Amino acid sequence: MKVMIVDDNAADRRLLRVNLEHHTCEVVEAADGRQALILAQWYQPDLIISDALMPDMDGFQFLRAVKRNATLMHIPFIFYSAVYTGHKEEALAKSLGAEAFIVKPKDPVAFWEEVVGIVDACRAREGRTVVQGLVQEEEDFLRMYSHVVARKLEEKVAELSTACAELQKREADATMLSLQWQSTFDAVKEAVWICDEGATILQCNRATSDLLGMPKDDIIGKTCFTLLHGAPISINECPMERVKASGKRESAHFVLNGKHIDVTVDPITSLNGGTRRFVHTASDISERVRAGEERKKLEAQLAQSQKMEAVGQLAGGIAHDFNNILSVIVGYAELAKLKLGEDSPAGKFIDNLMDGADRATGLIRSLLTFSKTQMMDMAPVDINQIVGRVRMFLERIIGEDIRLVTEIAGQELLVMADGGQIQQVLINLAINARDAMPDGGTLVIRTEQVMLDTETVTQYGGCDAGAYAFISVTDTGVGMDEAVKGKIFEPFFTTKESGKGSGLGLPMVYGIIKQHNGFINVYSEPDEGTEFRIYLPLVNETVACSSPSSLPYPPNGTETILIAEDNDALRDVADELFTSFGYKVISARDGEDALKKFIAHADAVDLCFLDMIMPGKGGKETFEEISRLQPDMKFLFASGYTADTIFRKGIADIHSNFIVKPFAPKLLLRKVREILDGTDKMHSDIRPHHGE
Ligand code: ADP
Ligand code: MG
Repeated sequence: MKVMIVDDNAADRRLLRVNLEHHTCEVVEAADGRQALILAQWYQPDLIISDALMPDMDGFQFLRAVKRNATLMHIPFIFYSAVYTGHKEEALAKSLGAEAFIVKPKDPVAFWEEVVGIVDACRAREGRTVVQGLVQEEEDFLRMYSHVVARKLEEKVAELSTACAELQKREADATMLSLQWQSTFDAVKEAVWICDEGATILQCNRATSDLLGMPKDDIIGKTCFTLLHGAPISINECPMERVKASGKRESAHFVLNGKHIDVTVDPITSLNGGTRRFVHTASDISERVRAGEERKKLEAQLAQSQKMEAVGQLAGGIAHDFNNILSVIVGYAELAKLKLGEDSPAGKFIDNLMDGADRATGLIRSLLTFSKTQMMDMAPVDINQIVGRVRMFLERIIGEDIRLVTEIAGQELLVMADGGQIQQVLINLAINARDAMPDGGTLVIRTEQVMLDTETVTQYGGCDAGAYAFISVTDTGVGMDEAVKGKIFEPFFTTKESGKGSGLGLPMVYGIIKQHNGFINVYSEPDEGTEFRIYLPLVNETVACSSPSSLPYPPNGTETILIAEDNDALRDVADELFTSFGYKVISARDGEDALKKFIAHADAVDLCFLDMIMPGKGGKETFEEISRLQPDMKFLFASGYTADTIFRKGIADIHSNFIVKPFAPKLLLRKVREILDGTDKMHSDIRPHHGE
């Protein structure tokens, strides 16, 4: 059997041909109706199997042409089409003379059976074939045909718009994904960019723009090495080049525009084995680097301050011994003066000797301040006198280029203070002022009495309104900005090069002023100089703050004093002093000896004068044991050492029962008299303080 297949789809034609040839049919193919019409006349097939929808001339037009052609009209015609939506097509096909309308795809065996059935039926009614299509009116055909075609079109339009909607959805999804990706990318704090193998930047996030200081559009398309390093080719340290070789993460450290940047590069594995990509991640580690440097600086400062601490301890130790020596000198000088009498010509020499000892005492004081082991020796002092005393010294410190002006208040400014520490405050401030005026200038120290109201005092962090001694220290130096001003009282804060500043000057000043219940404020602008303002509460006491030498000697005594002192010379001078003033003295070498002698003369002893630091049994232990034996025994303690030590020894009131070495003999005699007479209100309060 000769069969003609008409179909625009070559694959469909091929499938059909294989099936037909399998049943020994002879097959000829055509791709559309027009081609098929020509071929059919020449080939005269026994059967035509045609698709419905084809370009140029479709299946229906082709069928109509076949049935109108006298040489072809007898050939059975079967539609084999997938575009089947209802009975309309089938009806039209049948009305035009088609034998059947088979819906594609159909199982090959069933298809063949159906085809055979149709061909057999045709043969059976041979000659009686009535071609309905020919009798159909042209108008009818056109109406039905256009109807079918319109439906097909509607169908196609519907299909297309579904496809279109699907496409739009995919596009929206893709846009959404890309937006999500970009915002995630931009949310990363680190600068991230992606390069191709030639180091051209394909993508970058916002942090990259921030890092390079240029918009994204100026970055994309440029090479990494031009943007980052201004280089014409990849630089030697390029981590991406290393990734190309190693295939794994590589990193490098760069300094860009003064920032420390860590760059890490990871390879991006491509799915299709195409060109490789590299993702760069850069983080600004400047803060960390700075913190590291800061730590190193702090460590150096710590080392420095530990060194100072050691030097301080050494100085403290020397000062201790020196105090004893000075006490001996001062003691004997005083005694000598007494023995010589008022109008002895040698009296002047002794005065000079004592002046020298006084200066040495001052020196020891500063050594102890430096070693931070000195006693707070609180007494009413006149701030004006302190300024006067320290003036000469300051002039020497600040040098010739700087003029020192002092403006002293008209009235006395009496405050409860440790004169030595207030001096230290002035010295520290003057040194800073000098450092702030490398090319010279003026340093003004002004004192004044001021009244502070509650509001001002509260604002300064205090609580007692009233009269204050005001000290202003003003320089015409470089001044400070806000940042520096905010930190000057912090320990170790310094703007000076290492070796020049310790950053401990102002913290010390601050500490001292606080201990004195005062306030300190700073006023400064860059290039406008600096003023430190100090307020110390005034005291009303009329107690003379003059040196002990101007005080009268106390009356002689008759009591017995037990002296415990390990320094022989010092013990001797104290013995001599007390004996000269009528006292009976029992001398002990140390605590152990003192205890023994106390037991032996318990009824005789009226007062124990104990050195705090002695080998073996120290002042505290001796005090405790004697008080146990005789609870109402009176004591006086002496030490050149630290308030700390005294407190640690557990003796509560150091002010009334304590005398700082080197002691002025007159002061020692007065103290002893006060304690013995009970005029020293505090002495009876001291009791062993157990439990530290
Ligand atoms: P140091 O003098 O060792 O640096 P200080 O604690 O005395 O330490 O001072 C801390 C810092 O305060 C100084 O490094 C300086 O920057 C600043 N400073 C202190 N006094 C003055 C001043 N009179 N003028 C300008 N700056 C000052
Ligand atoms: Mg300083």
